[in-house]
Amino acid sequence: MPQSNETNKVKPIVKVPDFNADSAYLYVQKQVDFGPRVPNTDAHRACASYLASELKAFGAEVIEQKAEVKAFDNTILKAVNIIGTFNAEQKNRILLLAHWDSRPFADQDANPENWQKPVLGANDGASGVGVLLEIARQMGKNLPTVGIDIIFLDAEDYGQPSFYNTIGTADSWCLGAQYWAKNPHVPNYYAQYGILLDMVGTANASFTKDVISMKYAPHVVEKVWHKAQTLGYGHLFINKQGGSITDDHVYINELAHIPCIDIIDFNNGFFEYWHTVNDNMSHIDKNTLKAVGQTVLDVIYNE
Ligand SMILES: [Zn+2]
Repeated sequence: MPQSNETNKVKPIVKVPDFNADSAYLYVQKQVDFGPRVPNTDAHRACASYLASELKAFGAEVIEQKAEVKAFDNTILKAVNIIGTFNAEQKNRILLLAHWDSRPFADQDANPENWQKPVLGANDGASGVGVLLEIARQMGKNLPTVGIDIIFLDAEDYGQPSFYNTIGTADSWCLGAQYWAKNPHVPNYYAQYGILLDMVGTANASFTKDVISMKYAPHVVEKVWHKAQTLGYGHLFINKQGGSITDDHVYINELAHIPCIDIIDFNNGFFEYWHTVNDNMSHIDKNTLKAVGQTVLDVIYNE
């Protein structure tokens, strides 16, 4: 029987790496061990070198994009976006993002005495970065077909605190993302789409479909949620409209014009310990890290 040419057109079955949640958990722990990663502190500087050296160890080409950005109170923040590139020569690229700084003010804490204290940011910051470090480690062993850029964005969480007594501006958040969107690390940088991870570490998380993701990248939301549900994570990736959330993806969509979604735990509010002094390792759950990490790996290895 003659061989049909059609068989050559069948997409080969790809081997998706197995996301290791123990490893991701240790990457979250390691960041938290530095203490709060608030810009202009020693912990922040030490964690930046750690993140850059890990990405290099996994085989990424690394750029530390340094920027001086102005906070709501005119403090100049020495920020650094840490960028790791895999398959640099590939034109077809996907952008993976998480913020790595932690908030200087626990202004949602029930106790007003804690409002001026920094947040440890185990979930709000370290969880997304921990998942992306594990994805980077897997890519170091076995590259996907597409090009991948991982950006650890800085100064996301230095936004104007609720106790600060002047008129607020939404643009006081996501300063690292705003800087990168206006000054991409490669001229005319473009990715097919972006996936932002934020607060992806607590048990019983609810990843709803936020307004900005659905406005700019509904096809990516559907692709990712469908993949998660196929993998058995439908209890976390739920079919529900989420909130209108100011997060780094706003600027990736609106300034960099890259369709970008946010996988963020939001269901009529953020997680219980959001912007409090209790955002620590005791609330980090390996099952949630696994669900998010495996879903993102399955999406990118099938591109
Ligand atoms: Zn935050």
